[in-house]
Amino acid sequence: ENAQLKDIISHAKEYGFVYPSSEIYDGLQAVYDYGAYGVELKNNLKRLWWETMTRVQENIVGIDAAIFMHPTTWKASGHVDSFNDPMIDNKDSKKRYRADVLVEEHAATFERAGDIEKANSLTGALARLLEAEDLAGVRDLIINEGIKCPISGTSNWTDVRQFNLMFSTQVGSVAEDASTIYLRPETAQGIFVNFLNVQKTARMKVPFGIAQIGKAFRNEIVARQFIFRMREFEQMEMQFFVRPGTELEWYKVWAETRMKWHLALGTPAEKLRKHDHEKLAHYANAAMDIEYEFPFGFKEVEGIHSRTDFDLKSHQEYSKKKQQYFDPEVNQNYIPYVIETSIGADRLFLLTLCNAYTEENTEEKSRTYLKLHPSIAPVKAAVLPITKKDGLPEKGKEIVELLKYDFNIIYEDAASIGKRYARQDLIGTPFCIAVDHQTLEDNTVTIRYRDTTEQERVPISELHGRIAEATSF
Ligand code: ATP
Repeated sequence: ENAQLKDIISHAKEYGFVYPSSEIYDGLQAVYDYGAYGVELKNNLKRLWWETMTRVQENIVGIDAAIFMHPTTWKASGHVDSFNDPMIDNKDSKKRYRADVLVEEHAATFERAGDIEKANSLTGALARLLEAEDLAGVRDLIINEGIKCPISGTSNWTDVRQFNLMFSTQVGSVAEDASTIYLRPETAQGIFVNFLNVQKTARMKVPFGIAQIGKAFRNEIVARQFIFRMREFEQMEMQFFVRPGTELEWYKVWAETRMKWHLALGTPAEKLRKHDHEKLAHYANAAMDIEYEFPFGFKEVEGIHSRTDFDLKSHQEYSKKKQQYFDPEVNQNYIPYVIETSIGADRLFLLTLCNAYTEENTEEKSRTYLKLHPSIAPVKAAVLPITKKDGLPEKGKEIVELLKYDFNIIYEDAASIGKRYARQDLIGTPFCIAVDHQTLEDNTVTIRYRDTTEQERVPISELHGRIAEATSF
């Protein structure tokens, strides 16, 4: 972890955004809780995604499917058979590693030392072994290369085994009746199995989409980098159903639409890039990621995948229920093709924090603040009477009453005004409203702007309109 990420993690904890889960018990690896400002920011991001993906789109509707699904779902989707990572345990440290990551990291040491040929030969050998599903071969490679456990320093390795990333649990009251079900590793399948329900009941015509926000669970092995890779996380997915043969056009449309969305949220273009997949998953005929430059490098935030008819066809086979759509325009029955846009709410949250975290060091001032787009800022405005006396608190609370039904507002009257401004900067509040003695005379207040720290005198009657304008997306 680098220094910038460390600063962001401690900021997130100290100012009520993200805490390690069950921290009093020393936390639970790769699981996190959102605090008072974190939950507001995350909800704002989800709401913004939801509105731009459903309300603004006349041909996309939402659903909220359950986390538990019939176990056959995960056979049909391929997750039972192929949602695996090759794992190896070190017998001395009892630590488990992803075997492929061990080899890749070993190859990277050669690359850093300038021995590109050796690095390439290692990654090439690894790719061939994985392709052939030769797990014993992967182990031999690790042994022959003398790759050591970073904790114990020994090369006393077990066999390599496939490890499924799905969490399982039991449903049913008595052991004999109980059956194993999985916590969904992606929200997409809840959309696919409801494809016809939604199409019929919401009277949708191809091309149309179904959007969903919900929790997903993956028993990630390499759980690092804060909320970038969690075991319990939230996905925002949209599956867009199209006529076969038109999927690559729609794939382009969605790739562009999603990139524009990130730019509109204030992420600078130079921090974003597209990454086309050369190696495609078994279900895809085109795929790309939108990557963001995190403090630890360019990494995937969102995936856009052309999933063909793989999922619906597979569910038709397993369920024996037709998953076809009758298209009156071409007078044909077909299984639609699917374009998916899939983004992690937590990963978007991390992107947003990284992007907003600003340390300002000029001769006049030195401060840290979160430069969040006002539409997603957890608190829109703080009402701050300059003293606790002379009826200023009462006046301040009147202003809170005017605003609090439409905006998340904070009221604070303790500590010096400078300290209170600084605190609002740290949580990214775009407007501070100072109430002073003049307010009692002429019903004006001072607005202090977060990004410029400039101040402006405005009538109380204008506050609502100004905040509404600034916080609309
Ligand atoms: P990665 O390669 O980073 O593991 P992936 O390609 O497996 O991601 P998808 O299955 O395409 O990811 O999931 C779609 C999105 O869900 C990702 O772009 C990411 O934003 C989010 N996501 C996936 N896994 C996690 C996780 N463990 N923690 C947080 N977000 C995740």
